[in-house]
Amino acid sequence: MVCPYCKSQENPAKHGTYIRESDGKKCQRYRCKACKKTFSETHFSIDYRLRKRYLNQNVFRSLCSGVSQRRLAIILGVQRAVIARRLLRFGRCAQHNLEVYRRNREKVTRLDFDELETFEHTKCKPITAAIAVEDKTRKVLAIAVGRIPAKGPLVQLARKKYGPRPCERSKCLHALFHDLKDCLGPSGLVKTDKSKAYPPFIRSYLPGWNHEATPGLRGCVVGQGELKASGWDPLFSLNHTYAMFRDGLKRLARRTWCTTKKMGNLTMSLNMYAWFHNLYLDSKQRTQLKLDWNH
Ligand SMILES: [Zn+2]
Repeated sequence: MVCPYCKSQENPAKHGTYIRESDGKKCQRYRCKACKKTFSETHFSIDYRLRKRYLNQNVFRSLCSGVSQRRLAIILGVQRAVIARRLLRFGRCAQHNLEVYRRNREKVTRLDFDELETFEHTKCKPITAAIAVEDKTRKVLAIAVGRIPAKGPLVQLARKKYGPRPCERSKCLHALFHDLKDCLGPSGLVKTDKSKAYPPFIRSYLPGWNHEATPGLRGCVVGQGELKASGWDPLFSLNHTYAMFRDGLKRLARRTWCTTKKMGNLTMSLNMYAWFHNLYLDSKQRTQLKLDWNH
């Protein structure tokens, strides 16, 4: 057990027990030998200091199943803050779990990546979310989020109302590859669309890899732009995963009332959904959010 205060690896000494008030569980306390601070075993669990811990898994699954935060609060009969607090905590937890997952899994040899576009507050303030997916298995490997300026007919209006907006696209792709380096093999196949922005990144971060660029296909008539009309989509793993993000997270759905207000919360939502998605692919019955402390 690692000390949460000084990160000392030395095993802490037992320091008595206490009965947790909210559910009557007996919890073990520990005292760190290095910094002498005490903490309990619950410090490392997903429900640390949350009293309504029976809600947690339900909130996790609902938020990843297209239910909005406000509506979930109504369904469960709780304050909105109860849900909002959990969204942030679950997002951080999922982010950590993804990091551990990248480090411990076998090396990836088939990678797809692209950017999903959404916005904060108004379409004049777009956001790009670069998401890397393992081809075939559809497991989400890494996510990075950044601001981008408005384009098309909104350029003038966006500039007038909100001033200049930085373009963080390349910063975002650098962050994505930085995270990915833990899990990528020395060679493999990377598939993207025909965007001109990607080849320089692939050359510098994936020197031994083959790059296959596919032209974008037209979206199918009903629903999401990510699902393609033609029968065979070479980027199916990627597009299908993106479509699932849009279906699972209410704020990403097209033509929705629920929009992102803060970019940080979007990042947390994306991480939370990514972890849910990976759990779901492993087993459809058991999508249980746990904090993974295996470093
Ligand atoms: Zn300590």
